[in-house]
Amino acid sequence: MIRYTVRLADLNRHHFEVLCHIENPVAEQRFSLPSWIPGSYLLREFARHIVSIRAKSDGREIDVEKVSKGTWCCRGANSSLSVTIEVYALDRSVRGAYLDGQRGYFNGTCLFLCPEGLDQQPVEVLLETPGDLRCESWRVATAMVPKDVDQNGFGLYRAENYDELIDHPVEMSDFSDAAFKVAGVPHLLVIAGRHRTDLERIASDLTQLCEAHVDLFGRPPPFDSYCFLGLAVGEGYGGLEHRASSSLIFSRDDLPKLGQPDIPLDYQRFLSLCSHEYFHTWNVKRIKPKTFTPYLLDRRAHTRLMWVFEGITSYYQDLMLLRSDLIGSDAYLSRLGRMLTRVYRSPGRLKQSISDSSFDAWDRLYKPEANSTNATISYYSKGALVALALDLTLRKDSKATLDQVIGELWKRFGEAGIGLEEDEFEALCQEISDLDLTSFFDLAVRGTKDLPLAELLTAFGVSLEFRQAKGPNDTSGLPSSKSEPSLDLGVRFRRHPAGLELMTVVDGGPAERAGMNPGDVVIAIGGLRIVESNLAKRLVRLESGETVAVTAFRGDELMEFSVMLVEGDRNTCVLETVQKPKTAVLERRKAWLGS
Ligand code: ZN
Repeated sequence: MIRYTVRLADLNRHHFEVLCHIENPVAEQRFSLPSWIPGSYLLREFARHIVSIRAKSDGREIDVEKVSKGTWCCRGANSSLSVTIEVYALDRSVRGAYLDGQRGYFNGTCLFLCPEGLDQQPVEVLLETPGDLRCESWRVATAMVPKDVDQNGFGLYRAENYDELIDHPVEMSDFSDAAFKVAGVPHLLVIAGRHRTDLERIASDLTQLCEAHVDLFGRPPPFDSYCFLGLAVGEGYGGLEHRASSSLIFSRDDLPKLGQPDIPLDYQRFLSLCSHEYFHTWNVKRIKPKTFTPYLLDRRAHTRLMWVFEGITSYYQDLMLLRSDLIGSDAYLSRLGRMLTRVYRSPGRLKQSISDSSFDAWDRLYKPEANSTNATISYYSKGALVALALDLTLRKDSKATLDQVIGELWKRFGEAGIGLEEDEFEALCQEISDLDLTSFFDLAVRGTKDLPLAELLTAFGVSLEFRQAKGPNDTSGLPSSKSEPSLDLGVRFRRHPAGLELMTVVDGGPAERAGMNPGDVVIAIGGLRIVESNLAKRLVRLESGETVAVTAFRGDELMEFSVMLVEGDRNTCVLETVQKPKTAVLERRKAWLGS
């Protein structure tokens, strides 16, 4: 038995103090902290947040020596050994640890040293009741199994081994919560951070949503309880999946107001995030690539299948909103149109396949830079399109569906606890559909050409139109009534106090041809000051083919560029149902979208 004690040592310094106690250590007992956290494919080297480390054996101090990036060695211990670390925690993301006077949160990867050779031992964790008055109203939320806890949840927890221990993030704060049941299994929604919302409504919508997920994979779900650990912030969006919980960060403005009857886009965004992370409970937490069984947390683990885990999950995240009747088919198609738009606005889709994007996740998707849009494609968004194309191809050309593939993946790999080999997804699709899908996977997964989505969608009574973006904020998959052409500078930018800071200069676009760089801060176009809110209004008065002076700072040097404006690419996607399609087409659409 390994025993950890977690103390909220200093809220103002953001220090956790964590003790790891073992019996019968070896002569040179090593302890290590993971370099990365499963679900987020970047070497984060959590050990860099350790402020101090000390070791005691049978009451006396012994030496601790750091022997590699995240590993320490204790020599000269007798019958028992305790290692205590102080950890600095001020990372508000879902991947780190955080502690201040308002809130404590951690992932075990940040706090729990793993004693070498003992990672399969059962574990107990004592969460000490904080003494600070600011924590008086704090409670604990986690999917870790309680063994002996007080009414606020502080006390003793247990896990079967180290792998489970670090897969249960812990929230400690004055959060609000709502309990609900899905397939008879207790679920809890927790929201930390200031917010005002209709918790009961969210719980009711999540019940509907989660029931649809459980229906897809089969009852009962593979956990005894589930916890959505949410943090409401001003701006932010992301999540991290775990075996019986997920950590979510989202804008408080995305949450529904009290008494709000409809389901606006921002609330759809929140539900879509919950849906995505919940789907992962099966797909990637249990159906896993071979390379993640087990996770080797001191090095990168490469797989060409990230698109299977993130792309298919991204396809289902919105499809499950439709299946659970939270949104209708028009709203679903509009969400799908936005996903398509993200891909068609990435020139990098023509350079990088999703197989390569998956393999290079560690150095490319997780290390975005100015040229990413030109050179790479996300295995999330393009992966979702491939999942869509695969689902439609199976439905059109065989009796199979992607649901069946997912169901078999679950039975053969997830439920059986067997890692998926690199070629097994493709083989399974061929087996279930009885189709030769080699050319499909060559194009969609290993290739960089666009998928024949318009053609596929037509067979399902859905039209796909491409139009120009109507301004910088036009991300929607909605039709536009505006007919005049939109002009384009060929840049992605963000707001800057002085104007617009270029984040990306699109390959072959007007700004690139004029010699502009990422990082340039545009302050004027045609001699007039430019900010985000007036850009579209300025551009609409100019003509395609016209050359305009763009004034920008490069560092502290003021420069002027002659930019020849062109019409924007038709890369905004709009999906709509076709009215009165042929019977066979309508049947297919009903089977796919329900209407
Ligand atoms: Zn994901």
